[in-house]
Amino acid sequence: MKLYNTLSRQLEEFKPITEGQVSMYCCGPTVYSFAHIGNLRTYLNEDFLHRTLERAGYKVHHVMNITDVGHLTSDEDTGEDKMLKAAEQEKMDVLALARKYEDFFFDEEKDLNIIRPEKVCRATEHVQDMIEFVKKLEEKGLAYTAAGNVYFDTVKFGHYGELSHKDIGGLQHGARVEEDTNKRNPTDFVLWFTSSKFENQILQWDSPWGRGYPGWHIECSVMSSKYLGENIDIHCGGVDHVPVHHENEKAQSEGCFGHKWVNYWVHNEFLQLKDMKMSKSLGNILTIPALKEKGYNPLAYRYLALTAHYRSLLQFTWEALDSAQSAFDNLKTRVIEIKKDLSGAVDEAKKTELLAKFDAAIFNDISTPQALAVMWEVVKDSSLNNATKWAILSEMDTVLGLKMDEMKEEAFAPSDEALKLIEERKQARANKDWAKSDELRDALAKLGVGIKDLPGNQLDVFPLK
Ligand code: AMP
Ligand code: ZN
Repeated sequence: MKLYNTLSRQLEEFKPITEGQVSMYCCGPTVYSFAHIGNLRTYLNEDFLHRTLERAGYKVHHVMNITDVGHLTSDEDTGEDKMLKAAEQEKMDVLALARKYEDFFFDEEKDLNIIRPEKVCRATEHVQDMIEFVKKLEEKGLAYTAAGNVYFDTVKFGHYGELSHKDIGGLQHGARVEEDTNKRNPTDFVLWFTSSKFENQILQWDSPWGRGYPGWHIECSVMSSKYLGENIDIHCGGVDHVPVHHENEKAQSEGCFGHKWVNYWVHNEFLQLKDMKMSKSLGNILTIPALKEKGYNPLAYRYLALTAHYRSLLQFTWEALDSAQSAFDNLKTRVIEIKKDLSGAVDEAKKTELLAKFDAAIFNDISTPQALAVMWEVVKDSSLNNATKWAILSEMDTVLGLKMDEMKEEAFAPSDEALKLIEERKQARANKDWAKSDELRDALAKLGVGIKDLPGNQLDVFPLK
C-alpha cells in the first residue's frame, strides 16, 4: 500500500511499526459550533483510509481528540477564544456547549457511516497530562516562561519547519498581526497560558506556572502519546493544519521524546464553496441536517466525497450533489435488482480479478475515484451473474461504506399533496371527465408519482424514477 507523506512530499510504501497493526491519530473537531460538510470531508477521507487499512488486513488503532478548551480564532496564539465567544452568544455554560456540538458531530458522522474511532478523548479530561508534558519540555530546556505564559522555543528545538518546509530564519518579528512580543522567536508558541487577554476565561486549572489553561497544540501531542505511544504510524488532518498546528505538535512531541514521532503525515484537501473557504467563523456553513432537510440522503454526500481524490480540492455545488444523489440512487436500484436473485455459483476467478483491480486503486494512495469506477464496471458487467456481482460488491462496500447490504425497496408513501390529487382524479373518472383525469395524471408525474389503473377501479401507485 502506498501513501503520500507530507513530510517527504512523496508517495511512500506503507510499513507499520508493529506488524499487522496501525496506529492512527486524527485531529478531531473543535466543538464550539456545528461541524460543516467541509470538516466532514476530512473525516470521510480519514474513514476511507481507516477502512482501506482494515481491508489490507491491519488492526487499526484510531484515536481522535475533541477540542473543548482553548482554541483561538486564529491558529496562532492570537485572536479570540472561540469556545468562550460561542458560549456567550448562546448563553450556555462552556462545557454544556461543547457537549451539545460533540453530540451533533457524532450524529453527522453516523449519518455518513463513518466508523467511530477506537478512542475519542476530550482535551478537558487530559489537562493534568498536558501539565506533565510541559514540565518535561521545561526540563529539556525547550520551554521558557515570559510574562506568565509558558512558550515552546522553536529555535532550540533545532529542526522546526520540516513538515511545512518553512524557513524560520526568514521569519521576522512583527511580520504577522498581533505579534506577541514576549516570544523569543516569531515561530514560538504558547504551551500554557496564565496571563491572557481573556480575563473571563471560565475553564482554568492550577499548574506549576499559576492558574490558567493549555495552548491548543499541546493536547494532540499528549493524547496521541497517551493512547498510541511515542511513535505512531499515521497522523491525519486537513491541509490547513500543516503550517502551524501540526508543525507545532511535531516540535513538542519530538522535543519531548527525543526522536521521530510520526512516520506518515496524511493531509486532506479542502471542500470549497463557490471560491470561498467554508468556515465556521465566516458563517457560510452547510451541515448534514441541512442537506437532509433539502431531501438529500447523507450517503449521497459520502458518494460525492468518494468521487474526488483526498488530495484534490473539491468544489461544492448543488449540481455536483444532485449528480452524486442520482448516481447513488441509480446504484441503489441496481444493487436491489442484483440482490433479488443470488442463485448460481460465484465465479471465483472473476471475483479475484476484479477485487484485485479495486485494491490496486485504493491501495494506491486511497484513489477512491478509480475504486468507484471499478465498482461500476462490476455493476454493469452483463457477463457476470448476480451471485458473483454481489460477492464482489459486498466486499468493496467494506471500504466504500455506502451501506449496500441495507439497500432495499422502500415502502412508497405518496405525499399529502399527491394523495389529494389522486382523490380528485378518482372523482374526475367517476364523472367521466377524462381530460381532467389526464391532467391530474400529469400533475402527479410532476410530483414523481406514477399511477396505473387496474381492473375493478383499483389503482397502482408507484414512484417514478
Ligand atoms: P476544526 O473543527 O476547525 O478544528 O476542523 C476539523 C477538521 O476539519 C480539521 O482536520 C480541519 O483541517 C478540517 N477542515 C476545516 N475546514 C475544512 C474544509 N472546508 N474542507 C475540508 N476540511 C476542513
Ligand atoms: Zn491536532
